[in-house]
Amino acid sequence: MTIPLARPDISDVERARVQSVLETSTLSQGSQLEEFESRLAKVGGVRHAVAVNSGTSALHLALAISDIGPGDEVITTPFSFIASANCILFQRARPVFADIDPNTLCIDPSQVQAKITDKTKAIVGVDVFGQPADWNALQDIASEHDLLLVEDAAEAVGSTYDGRPAGSFGDRAIFAFYPNKQITTGEGGALLTNDAKAAGRARSLRNQGRRLKSAWLEHEVLGYNYRLDELSCALGNAQLDRLDELLEKRRRVFDLYQQTLSEIDEIVLPEAPSRTNTQWFVYVIRLKTHYSRAQRNALVEFLKRSDIQCGLYFPCIHLSKFYRSAFGFKRGTFPIAEAVSDLTIALPFHTQVTQEEVFQVADALREGLVGISRMNNSRRGWRRANAS
Ligand SMILES: *Cc1c(COP(=O)(O)O)cnc(C)c1O
Repeated sequence: MTIPLARPDISDVERARVQSVLETSTLSQGSQLEEFESRLAKVGGVRHAVAVNSGTSALHLALAISDIGPGDEVITTPFSFIASANCILFQRARPVFADIDPNTLCIDPSQVQAKITDKTKAIVGVDVFGQPADWNALQDIASEHDLLLVEDAAEAVGSTYDGRPAGSFGDRAIFAFYPNKQITTGEGGALLTNDAKAAGRARSLRNQGRRLKSAWLEHEVLGYNYRLDELSCALGNAQLDRLDELLEKRRRVFDLYQQTLSEIDEIVLPEAPSRTNTQWFVYVIRLKTHYSRAQRNALVEFLKRSDIQCGLYFPCIHLSKFYRSAFGFKRGTFPIAEAVSDLTIALPFHTQVTQEEVFQVADALREGLVGISRMNNSRRGWRRANAS
């Protein structure tokens, strides 16, 4: 049986909550939404949460309600899920990438500083794999240059940094609830902010630009349909009922991996700085730097053949086909992000991974590493043969 990379954790709590919505006639914009939003605001440590139909929609709204537009530059990381950069393009602003810190894998504040121009309007930082970015440093830069600060906490529900929850940093933050995330609503996301006016604008934009509490179909501005239905909100509420349990189960799997894989010399294990309490979204190991991307790819193929699903988190955004063709990015532009991205492997990680499965992954990794080392030798051999 294949060990899946990710898997939602759905119990009778979720089934009962969703079923109870089906027994009402309110399938959108009802009490589940209200409850979900007020609970999310608490989880993120902010005053307002606006639930929407995806994390990507939440990112879009974060910039749209902040008047980021054509001609503006927004600094963000090339090492993330593509939505954290795409939202900048949705507003016809320009994404400006800044390289990452090789330890945290989050955007490097000193690289951000170096990218600031007269046109810079915002920074979108990402809590990569659940590990909070260096928010103190980013906040200092943002206030010094009067920039909007956006926290993409899509992967960090439940994490903290200096004792404060992910979702509370910057002027706007977002959560996401795709089935592989810490909690899921099927599809879904939320915008978080302390700014009541901004939250109001987001509520209007998610609902076709309608004026809040106004006559039916009174559209004031260009809006979208980013609403999250009651069934999804009920699912989200049930997951929040179980939040501590879900995070605890993930933590157990994380600890199992850390113990089991610490004996393998050829890989680097994830490690969060002590100022954070990271609730991991994925379990990502890195091959040591003497390995090549080709070897990493071969190892991933080997793991897949061994019935272990694994993922490449993340391919660099600037090297995706779209960004290459739209902006002419080439390899070598963000050497740290590229070097990291070339050697990462995400292993199966969800609440239901068993100890036996962790052992199975470890065995396959050991075997695969022997295989790719031979690959290295034969390539060196090939080079030697050609040099002589
Ligand atoms: C999951 C994720 C999102 C949002 O994804 P959706 O699929 O739109 O919900 C945004 N940013 C990051 C870093 C993510 O991992």
